[in-house]
Amino acid sequence: MPEVLFKVDLKKPFAEQDVVGHNRWHPDIPAIVSVNPGAVFRIECKDWTDGQIGNNDSPDDVRDVDLSVVHVLSGPIHVNGAEPGDILVVDLLDVGTLPDYEWGFTGIFARENGGGFLTDHYPVAQKAIWDIQGIYTKSRHIPDVRFAGIPHPGLIGCAPSHELLAKWNKREADLVASGGPPWKPAIPALAELPNPKNAILGSLKGAEYDRVAKEAARTVPPREHGGNCDIKNLSKGSRIYFPVYVEGAKLSMGDIHFSQGDGEISFCGAIEMAGYIDVHVDLIKGGVEKYAMINPIFKPGPVEPRYSEYLVFEGISVDEFTGQQYYLDAHVAYRRACLNAIEYFKKFGYTGEQIYLLLGSAPCEGRISGIVDIPNACCTIAVPTAIFERNILPI
Ligand code: ZN
Repeated sequence: MPEVLFKVDLKKPFAEQDVVGHNRWHPDIPAIVSVNPGAVFRIECKDWTDGQIGNNDSPDDVRDVDLSVVHVLSGPIHVNGAEPGDILVVDLLDVGTLPDYEWGFTGIFARENGGGFLTDHYPVAQKAIWDIQGIYTKSRHIPDVRFAGIPHPGLIGCAPSHELLAKWNKREADLVASGGPPWKPAIPALAELPNPKNAILGSLKGAEYDRVAKEAARTVPPREHGGNCDIKNLSKGSRIYFPVYVEGAKLSMGDIHFSQGDGEISFCGAIEMAGYIDVHVDLIKGGVEKYAMINPIFKPGPVEPRYSEYLVFEGISVDEFTGQQYYLDAHVAYRRACLNAIEYFKKFGYTGEQIYLLLGSAPCEGRISGIVDIPNACCTIAVPTAIFERNILPI
């Protein structure tokens, strides 16, 4: 087993661990450890909410979740010799559960606390607990469903430079100040701006803590450094090429998912879990310019569940409440595809909430099928038929 460079005690809050990680992005959060290029090591992670969601049948913890705490991240890891303009090569050698915590959760956030993709249809908090047995999972809250997972970190990235952080904060504050486009949904908010409440910033203390807490970016969106990309195929065997922005790269990770559907639609939508990630790191000096890199590049690994038959639901960019025609809007089209899937599976004895939870957590493939055929974007969601242990075909 590789050396554990970041250990977590799942019974303790993140801020009280022996070595404290972080839940904001900022270049001045000190690294917890240094490694050489070529190193192999293990990083343990709490679930993204810092253990706020329990293995029980009540969704009250999802309803009452404190989102100022998210995402709790393990790191930063300083890679010796990494300089701005280099590429940090990260191999995800293995991803798995921790002993005695072989379970995960999927949630629908309440409309007034977090919301989600279909919050206007499903405004009440709900959750499903998943029992993990080796590569398989089942939920007592979604009957007759069983599938193999694709464990992956939902969130992984390097620290931004001061300049990049300032750019993020300005453009996101500008969006909020603008009020957003007229067609924006009422929920969720336009962006999460820096918020010192419950900021965890490694070993920083005193005035330095206060300064960084005010500037540090929230971890919700993916950005140029990677971050919360929620790419479901980024499982064991995957390689990620990250642009380096600060000396030492300062790599951090967390938000492990046992499985996820494309889009992670309920926002707490994957099978969220605590776990470990085995990592190998290396450097490509000067690689950012050499390969015209702006965002990270991913090379998914060879290990995936093999599902070959799907029921595919399509959606177009027309609002389901008003009938309004949207112009090539993939967000609206994917929502309609998911809603069409939910209405279909309701005919087989499931509730809408159960299928909403399932589409975000099972290995469903989301696609932009057409993005040029004015005025409708066409998106599809492909649901593997073999995950069901009851007939769900229209025969
Ligand atoms: Zn997640």
